[in-house]
Amino acid sequence: MKITGITAQVVQVEFNSPFVTAALSRTHQSTIIVKVQTDEGVFGIGESVPTRHVTGETIESALVVLKELEQKLLGQNPLCLEKIHMIMDQHIVGNFGAKAGIDIALYDLQGKVMNKPLYQLLGGYSDTIETDVTLSIDEPKKMAQSALEFVQQGLKILKVKIGVHPIQDIERIRMIREAVGDTIKIKIDANQGYNAAEAITVINSLQKYDVLSVEQPVPHWDIHNMAYIRKNISIKLIADESVHSHHDAMKFIQQDACDMINIKLMKSAGIFKAEKITALCEAAGIPCMLGCMAEGHVASTAGAHFAAAKRNVLDVDLDGSLLNKPQTYLSGGYTRKGGMITLTDKPGLGLELDFDYLNEL
Ligand SMILES: [Mg+2]
Repeated sequence: MKITGITAQVVQVEFNSPFVTAALSRTHQSTIIVKVQTDEGVFGIGESVPTRHVTGETIESALVVLKELEQKLLGQNPLCLEKIHMIMDQHIVGNFGAKAGIDIALYDLQGKVMNKPLYQLLGGYSDTIETDVTLSIDEPKKMAQSALEFVQQGLKILKVKIGVHPIQDIERIRMIREAVGDTIKIKIDANQGYNAAEAITVINSLQKYDVLSVEQPVPHWDIHNMAYIRKNISIKLIADESVHSHHDAMKFIQQDACDMINIKLMKSAGIFKAEKITALCEAAGIPCMLGCMAEGHVASTAGAHFAAAKRNVLDVDLDGSLLNKPQTYLSGGYTRKGGMITLTDKPGLGLELDFDYLNEL
């Protein structure tokens, strides 16, 4: 089997309401649906989500890179993932979102060739995962209201964005805890918004509100202060923006700089290297989380297959279907009830795409 073409279609994923973090604010996300075609008629679908503040990519740069990678991969066997990643990395460093689109499409294709759902090819630990839902930054009162609405929809785990103002951030968590009661799990994500002293003060002040974990309180390059913060707090510290590859994960493990690593397929260039990160972490006794950018349904489905398949992925943040408006040209993949996501047993990602509609976009 040979790769005969890689096509890219830009789509807009619209949010139900504006999404605000310590890093940015937006109403929608442009993403790219990637299709890898072969000489045997079977094809795979992936998604690239260029995220300028995390991977340094834009839609324009990702489209150029995808075009170049197509030229490098024409004629290659689509099942030979190790070789394909080597070719992509030799051609260009970084550009993980663009590469993830191709990688996801190749795993979808592999599942179709083997006639098995992807989560089974990746390990098949489970076909069900429980996701949290993310609350973006707003007035504390509005965040508490929105938290309550999600809890009423059946969500049991909240991930709250903070990192803009220490005192207001504490007030946000206080009001959310008061609104949702004691049984709901609350995690926080500061998206690099604090310095080390602020982080330690805020996190320790939040202890009384039963917060489970904190993601990336300081800038991505500050591994020294991640390790320092970890020694001075009593909740789990999760590395997100700091860790893209298994090489980054190795540094965090060696320096005792986190309790958990948040894998995102757009940071790891897809599933092939995400597997390396979780295997490395498992060997070090560190669990992983599977998170997402503001991704569409294709990438979310790929993330769900990966998270369900792996025993070392204990925490899931795949809330696209709660925060995004439906993409009417896409169906299947998984079903969701409250926070419970159940994968279908259709081959590959298990998605159906309306290509006629897509080509008209
Ligand atoms: Mg994060």
